[in-house]
Amino acid sequence: MPPIIVAIDGHSSCGKSTMAKQLARRVGYIYVDTGAMYRAVTLYALDHHLFRADGSLCADALRQAMDGLCVDFVLDPSTSLPLTTLNGEVVEERIRGMEVSAHVSPVAALPFVREAMTRQQQRMGRKKGIVMDGRDIGTVVFPNAELKVFVTASAEVRARRRYDELTAKGQQVDYDDILRNVKERDYIDSHREVAPLRQAPDALLLDNSHLSREEQNDWLFARFCEAANR
Ligand code: C5P
Repeated sequence: MPPIIVAIDGHSSCGKSTMAKQLARRVGYIYVDTGAMYRAVTLYALDHHLFRADGSLCADALRQAMDGLCVDFVLDPSTSLPLTTLNGEVVEERIRGMEVSAHVSPVAALPFVREAMTRQQQRMGRKKGIVMDGRDIGTVVFPNAELKVFVTASAEVRARRRYDELTAKGQQVDYDDILRNVKERDYIDSHREVAPLRQAPDALLLDNSHLSREEQNDWLFARFCEAANR
């Protein structure tokens, strides 16, 4: 079976990464979490004080830094899962916190950031055999992907899942803050000028509000087998 590209897009915190990761492992494909790449750029901007006191971003300073900024992945030897690196340092834990979540969407809306990340993502998928999740994978990064899925769930269900995930890691978070952040990111991601979040016309829609993890994994695997055998 020749390798294919699987593009999984959708709203924030709807479990895209979990199902994408599981599929990649099951079929022996590379998994790329593109949200992690935008999060790493955001972490850089936070660490380098590129946000002003009023919350706005010094876009010019970030643009100048972009060329020397390297976002990549290394495999965790114990889990074989990818860990995000920023200029060689593993930042996987730090990019998942609320501070990065609260600042990432304006960073991801900048055309020069998207250009750099899109180029790198296209390079990663050149040989196919890849499962990539994000917001614009099926529309912009790989418009010819053999399998495109658009995942969603109600904002409340998504906020609850994110809350459970963060508290399980020992982080102190507030459910209402998370719900607000989920809705705000959806809004910014869908209304930006460049590569807005939208379902590609040929993407399969999956609302997983009432599906168990196992049910959605099985659904995705069945769609993968159909697409790979086409
Ligand atoms: O997937 P995750 O929620 O980690 O993504 C973080 C943010 O990165 C999203 O809210 C969105 O603003 C941005 N993003 C994007 N395009 C992608 C992936 C993520 O704009 N392909």
